[in-house]
Amino acid sequence: MTSLPPLREVIARHGLSASKALGQNFLFDEQLLDRIAAIPGNLDGRPVLEIGPGPGGLTRALLRAGAMVTAIERDPRCLPALADLSEAFPGQLELIEGDALAIDQASLFDTPFAVVANLPYNVGTALLVDWLSSDRWPPAWSSLTLMFQREVAERIVAKPGSGTFGRLAVLSQWRSSASLAMKVHRSAFTPPPKVMSAIVHIEPGDMPEGVRPAMLSRVTEAAFGQRRKMLRQSLKPVPGAIAALEALGIDPTKRAETLAIDEFVALARVLS
Ligand code: SAM
Repeated sequence: MTSLPPLREVIARHGLSASKALGQNFLFDEQLLDRIAAIPGNLDGRPVLEIGPGPGGLTRALLRAGAMVTAIERDPRCLPALADLSEAFPGQLELIEGDALAIDQASLFDTPFAVVANLPYNVGTALLVDWLSSDRWPPAWSSLTLMFQREVAERIVAKPGSGTFGRLAVLSQWRSSASLAMKVHRSAFTPPPKVMSAIVHIEPGDMPEGVRPAMLSRVTEAAFGQRRKMLRQSLKPVPGAIAALEALGIDPTKRAETLAIDEFVALARVLS
């Protein structure tokens, strides 16, 4: 492995001024990046999908950890800097230029892959919902390690009864474990975003029997679409849902945010 220039130098050399439109906020602190790359566990020889490598700070850390990285980056300006990394870590980095939302990721790997990404908020959330909604379970991915705005991270790991508990929490926890792995201060980024960030780590668990993911999605959409209303009102548009509440002994005057995840799963099972 050849020694690598500091990331700030890479940015200057390749003229990578941060693009607001692409949600670019770069991380330069290599110790912090090594700690992030350690969150998924031992990556030596393991396949990793990195989305949005940008100038390659996190990519370097993943490569140093021995990962076999496939990286999808939308900004063509970043590709030459990433190609330098590919040379420094021969055979460990495959680069794909494109929009991660439009690429069939499962076709890129033969074995389960860990996903690691520091992405703009809207892209990250869209991909997360996609990963969590997989019809195939266990899914193609073995873990998700994702940077979000701290407020979104808190919604992902929220427990019932808290103000942040909603659809994202149910989707993230009904057949996966989700934890807040690390808080990241806004000053760690260049340029610093307006809000704080946090990294969420998700691992797939057992698939509850007899539940169609699309039904769980429908029930949570209706229930949290009108989260201030009682379930007997918010679930009206879902045929059979009110009878199912009764059959399960769930109080129909409850609101969605007080229902346990198991109760959502039971509801979806009866309706599936
Ligand atoms: N990983 C780098 C780091 O931590 O310093 C860059 C992070 S920056 C917040 C997000 C990166 O995602 C940018 O490089 C941006 O170009 C890229 N990106 C944004 N939307 C994307 C998409 N739809 N598909 C692939 N990459 C995308």
